[in-house]
Formats: sequence, structure tokens, C-alpha cells
Amino acid sequence: MSRSQLTIQQAARLLDAGLISCKQLVAYCRTLAVAGEEIWGLHAYNTLVDLDQMLDQAGESDRRRHYGETMSILDGIPMSFKSNIAVRTEPLTAGSRILGYHHDINKASMIAPPVGYDADTVKILLRDKGGILMGTTSLDEFGMGSLGTNTAVGVDGKARPTKNPLPLLSFLDEMLANAIPKDASSAEEQLVATLQLPSDVILQCHQNALQLYEQSHMGGFAFSAGGSSSGSAASVAHGSALLSLGTDTGGSVRLPAAWCGLVGLKPSYGLLSRHGIVSYASSFDTVGILARSVDCACIALDVLAQRGEYSRDSTFSSYGPNNTSSSQVAVAELSTSNNPLNGVKVGIPEAFSIRECPSDISENWSKAAQILEDYGAEIVQVSAESISPGLIQKALAAYYVLVSAEASSNLSRYDGFRYGVKANTTATTDLNKDYTPLEQQYASTRSEGFGKEVARRILCGTYVLSSDQFHTHYEAAATLRACLAEELHSTLKERVDLLLIPTVLSPPPHIEYSGTSMDSTVMFANDIMTTPPSLAGLPSVSVPMTSTVEDAKFPSSMQLIGGRLREDVILKAAHVLLKQSGSYGGP
Ligand code: GLN
Repeated sequence: MSRSQLTIQQAARLLDAGLISCKQLVAYCRTLAVAGEEIWGLHAYNTLVDLDQMLDQAGESDRRRHYGETMSILDGIPMSFKSNIAVRTEPLTAGSRILGYHHDINKASMIAPPVGYDADTVKILLRDKGGILMGTTSLDEFGMGSLGTNTAVGVDGKARPTKNPLPLLSFLDEMLANAIPKDASSAEEQLVATLQLPSDVILQCHQNALQLYEQSHMGGFAFSAGGSSSGSAASVAHGSALLSLGTDTGGSVRLPAAWCGLVGLKPSYGLLSRHGIVSYASSFDTVGILARSVDCACIALDVLAQRGEYSRDSTFSSYGPNNTSSSQVAVAELSTSNNPLNGVKVGIPEAFSIRECPSDISENWSKAAQILEDYGAEIVQVSAESISPGLIQKALAAYYVLVSAEASSNLSRYDGFRYGVKANTTATTDLNKDYTPLEQQYASTRSEGFGKEVARRILCGTYVLSSDQFHTHYEAAATLRACLAEELHSTLKERVDLLLIPTVLSPPPHIEYSGTSMDSTVMFANDIMTTPPSLAGLPSVSVPMTSTVEDAKFPSSMQLIGGRLREDVILKAAHVLLKQSGSYGGP
């Protein structure tokens, strides 16, 4: 059991057995977070909770455990939240200057005050179940992006793209293994010894790991962590959080999970409450889960999907209190059965076999199908008659038309008066002469407050909703969405239980060279595989698998798409895939 494989269950077991205290676990995770920011320059966090505050919370958790009053398996587990999800004690900025974001991890000079309320999902995890907040994570502004590079610039004028920690992790593991006392012999003893290392030793291990990497690799390690939940993925992959919530509108949890070697779950639209989420495209937005294992994702899903008192989001439809298809039940069944996927029909949709799919991804796709078949699933080829290639080819364009339209409407509230930080000055240009002072104020606030990509989406969205373009653009995209959703829903109802496709067709790009200057349409191409289930509101999970390419730095991830509210089926299959695909070079 290595440091980077610490799951929620393992941590809970060590805590329950008294082998570590919650204070030790939290101090370890926070040191990792600090090392990630200061030594590796990961830019995973937008804000980090003060150490003393964190230790107070951890002390409370230790006390509850001592008196047998733990709130759940998540009690004392360090977790992080994307910065577009409301956490009472932190500013809610969605990474945008218009909401007061400017980079200052310790919040000393933050303009935005703490938001003062919790999103439903945060309330469940932190207040009801005892999770410990590490901090809020970086993202592409308002969730718009695929690479973690559309981050607002800091006060120093520098952009802060999130970096993918995977390439450094094996070096870090080696350093930590060398640092622990030699008398720790069993895997568990070694893990406990690692978690108890003094912080200066952990920081030094990060320094050494970076040096070792740089000596053996030219060009640095600045690979994209994927976006837009870039910091959430980086924090879980690095190990400073054991769980993170992100948001997934068209792939923002699944893509970073795929590139950072994690399990990323986008639940059915409406399954988890969106109360307290900064809206991007409301008919697509979902809260998603980033975790190290399928079991970790199931634990989180099961607590988050309970309706209870949380019914403030009108699209929130839960499993219901006594629902037997709860995902944890489904995964628990696996251990009692030799052919856990007996009776499960897995569809391989021809429509997704696009020309651009590289051979190693195709090989991995076949390998994944074989694994599922070995565990009892029936593999079914889904022909072009059931899911049309024509619709899949146009899905990405339809997605971007629709989300831009919804974003232009959602973001209209940031005018500096109702919401948002008002610009101090109104720029005086010749153009301004034609506008009233109020219009000039709106213009300066919005052009100063929004980043380039966000402004582009607002302009595109306004354009496709204008009376001239509405029929040819917005309506055409909405019709395509309806047809695609109909085909996916009926295939998943009548022919198969789940669909198996890759999550993404390429490894993460090197962001120092390409990221910040990358053409938006090149960036959009990363979402080809993730947007179709989003258009249909279906649940989808990304699972990392060993790449078939020798010495690959990154996993080659597969996506499982299920029928509406059939998270149990996809998670069961995901569990088999993750278990059988072996080590993939990451956590
Ligand atoms: N990359 C997609 C976009 O920019 C998906 C974003 C998301 O899921 N939040 O819209």
C-alpha cells in the first residue's frame, strides 16, 4: 500500500484502529498541499484553510472517534471543493475576477468575503458527515475550459494554469519510501510511518522528486491536469485531498479524472442538488465526484444522493430513502460473485469509432471490453441504426452552441450592481460617446471582470440567441440534442445496460508550450467523447486504465455511460475495470 493509494476506506480504517490520528492525517495532507503549491507550482488550490483551523476540526473528529460518535466513514477525511461550489467559510469566485478572485492562496488580501452559506453537497459532506475542508480548488473560469488554463490572472498579472502531478508521483513515492524509518516493514506500517513524517521532511522529498524528474526529463512537467475541475483532480491525484467535488457540464470532471489517473463520476442530471453552484449552463450542470477508487466515489455518491432536507434545487431527483439500487450496494455485491457482470449488456457504439481515434486508444477500448466480458458481461455491437454517427459528429458543435447560449443568460447578472465587482473606472474611448454612463459602467465592469474565453462564450451565446440566428443555430442545436438524447435513451432502455467508449482521444498537452495560447476549437476537441452523455443528461464515469503504450506517463481512460439514474450499473462495471486493468503509473 503506497502513499498515493490511500483511499477513504484505508484512511478510515487507520483512524478507527488508532494507528493515526485525524490531526496527523490532516497535517500530512496540508503539507502535501503546501508543497504542491510552493515547490511544484501545481496551482491546484485557490484557497487553503489555515492550519490551526484545520487542526481544530481534526481535533473535533478525533474526539468524536474517541467517544464512538463518528458521523460517518467520511468523518475526518480531508476533501477539497471546486471554487464554483459554495463553502461557507471561503469566497465563492468561480475563479473569476468579476466575483473578486485574485490569486492569494492564504486569503490575506482577498477582495471577496466568505460566501456565508454552504452548497447542499458541501453541507452534507462537511457538516453532516464530518469531512475536513482542505481548501477550494482552481478551475477554468466559470467552468469554461478543458485544460485548466483559462484561469484568471493573479494580481501579479500571471496566469496560473493547473499542472498535472502524475509525472512526479513515482519520484515522490520513492523519496518518501527512503525517508521513513527502516523498521517499518509491512505495507501498513510503511503507510503509517509516511503519514507521520515531519513536514520539513515531506517538503524536502518534494524538492528532491522535482529535481530527479528534471534531471531525467527535458522540458519540465507542465502537463495539463484537464479542466475545468483542474485543481480538484490535481489535489486528489497528488494526495492532499482524498475526495473532491467538481462540476461537470460537458466533461469537466471526467476529463481531468482521465488525465490525472482518477475515477471521475458525472451523475445523472438532477441527481445531486445544484443549490450553491455557480451556474454555467443550467440544463447541463451537474456536481461531480473525483476520487481514487470506485468505492470512494460510491461512498460520496450515496451520501450526496439522499434527498433528506435538501430539496432546494427543483431539478434534484434522488434515489429515495429506501432505494435498493444504491451504488454502494451494487459494488458490495461484486465481492460475493465470480461473474459480477452476469446479465449486464455492454454496448460498443459504432458511432463513436471515429477516424481520429488513435490505435492505442482503440486497443485499450478492446481490452476494456474483453475485461468486462471475462467478468460475465455480454458485449453487444451497437450499430449506426441505433446511434447515428451523424448525430455524434455534430454533438460537440450543438453542445457549444447551447452552453454558450445558456452562459450568456446566466452570466448577465454580473453587471457590477446586482452581482460582481464593479470596475473603478469607466474607460473613456470614442466608442463610449454613444452610451449612457450606466452602459459605460456595465461595459468596463464586464470587460475587466471576465477573462477572454468567458467573454467569447457570452458573445457567441448572445449571437446564437439573436432573432436572426435563433432558428439556424440555437434551435438546430436544440433539435439535435433532442434526437441524440432520444437515441441514447432508447438504446440504453431497450438494447444495452451501458455504453463503453474512451473518455478522451489524446494524452494531456504540455501547457507551457501550447496551453494558454491554444486555439479554443483545438481545446474543444478534447470534449468529443464527453459531451454526448451530457447532452442527454445521462450518468457517466471515467476509469483510468494502463495505457498500451510502453512507458506512457498517463493512463488511457475509458468511460461508461448508463441509463438515467443507473449509476449502480456503471459503477459496478467501473469497479471491475479499475481492479483488472492493473497499475497505470499513477495513484
Ligand atoms: N470543456 C467544456 C466547456 O468548456 C466542459 C466544461 C464543463 O464541463 N464545465 O464547456
